[in-house]
Amino acid sequence: MSYWADITIIGAGVIGLAIASQVTREDREVYVLEKNETFGQEQSSRNSEVIHAGIYYEKDSLKARTCLEGNGLLYQLCEQNGIACKKCGKIIVATNDVEATELEKLYRRGNENGVPLKMLSRREMGKLEPNIKGISAFFSPTTGVVDSYSLVRYFLGKARENGAQMAFKTEVIGIEKVSGGYKVEVKEPSGNSSLMTRVLINCAGLYSDKVAEMTGINIDEANYKLHWCKGEYYSVGGGKNKLLNRLIYPVPMAISVGVHVCFDVDWRLRFGPLFYYVNEINFAVNDSRKRDFLESSIMKALPFIEPSDLEPESAGIMAMLQAEGEGFRDFVIRHEEHRGLPGFINLVGIESPGLTSCPAIARYVSHMVNEILEN
Ligand SMILES: Cc1cc2nc3c(=O)[nH]c(=O)nc-3n(C[C@H](O)[C@H](O)[C@H](O)COP(=O)(O)OP(=O)(O)OC[C@H]3O[C@@H](n4cnc5c(N)ncnc54)[C@H](O)[C@@H]3O)c2cc1C
Repeated sequence: MSYWADITIIGAGVIGLAIASQVTREDREVYVLEKNETFGQEQSSRNSEVIHAGIYYEKDSLKARTCLEGNGLLYQLCEQNGIACKKCGKIIVATNDVEATELEKLYRRGNENGVPLKMLSRREMGKLEPNIKGISAFFSPTTGVVDSYSLVRYFLGKARENGAQMAFKTEVIGIEKVSGGYKVEVKEPSGNSSLMTRVLINCAGLYSDKVAEMTGINIDEANYKLHWCKGEYYSVGGGKNKLLNRLIYPVPMAISVGVHVCFDVDWRLRFGPLFYYVNEINFAVNDSRKRDFLESSIMKALPFIEPSDLEPESAGIMAMLQAEGEGFRDFVIRHEEHRGLPGFINLVGIESPGLTSCPAIARYVSHMVNEILEN
């Protein structure tokens, strides 16, 4: 490869491809570089597939803003393009007094973020979900589920249709700032080569801190260092999916939103993810953690689940900026001009709700790209 591209995107996950579909047009040469054999093999295909409503995130944060906007855009996109999704709604349920206090705080936060929510009386909860047990709960009508594979494939098709070029088995191994843009060094099966680009967009997911580092950014000083967090899922058999009508979540007390009831668009029931920090990429489910699963708060709300109903199913690993024990961290989506890197757009820590936020993130990045290329 030795081309001058207008825009080069590193990573063909849902974020890189949503951006590619948005920024590509006839008069722009756009490349997507992906180290794997094909698209969407990492975070984008190993997640809960939930279209989040925007309840959990700090007010005015990028997570809150892009999640709320992404929620609406995603339902629209799915409807217009035949991508399977279900606006099934979810109930967040507290099973003791401590959780009930946190539930009220969460309800207020969701309200502040502008998310439609409804506090439920015990009677209303029993009517919506007769088989769950809890002392208080609220309902989120705009939460749903999406077929994430079809969504990623849709963005790939759209990006290609608009003229973007995909380079699979192409790993970015070095970045050099040159006059007018960047020289991107890549490793391909046939050997190493490079391409020149005016705009470079880092959508490298679990490795986005490493890619940021290739540009010379000190990721410790910039606070861009990622922590990998593994989330394990268990499938639930025995026809128990018929006992629930929507997604059921606990009150989040630790990392992320907590082990919850996940349904896919075909109403297959799973529980997860049980999150813990890891240092390596290994997607095997460690079933010695089944006990943690059984002791998780959501199980108290679902007394009809027997330990024998649960079978280890799959795992995903999330790119978190939040270190163990640390508080809220927002997405990093920045044009790094102020670091002396004009034309370099950095996306780091695009963890949950990244799937939900992807169409809004694509719009946000597209404005940055237009400003760079049209100035
Ligand atoms: C367990 C789990 C549950 C989740 N649940 C939800 C949910 O229910 N709802 C929700 O909204 N979000 C959820 N998320 C978050 C969501 O999945 C992510 O935010 C989203 O998939 C991030 O997409 P991405 O494209 O940034 O990353 P990825 O899908 O990881 O894609 C990054 C791509 O970059 C490529 N790459 C990396 N380095 C290089 C390199 N040097 N050269 C070339 N290519 C490179 C990788 O191979 C990869 O294909 C969850 C995540 C996890 C892990």
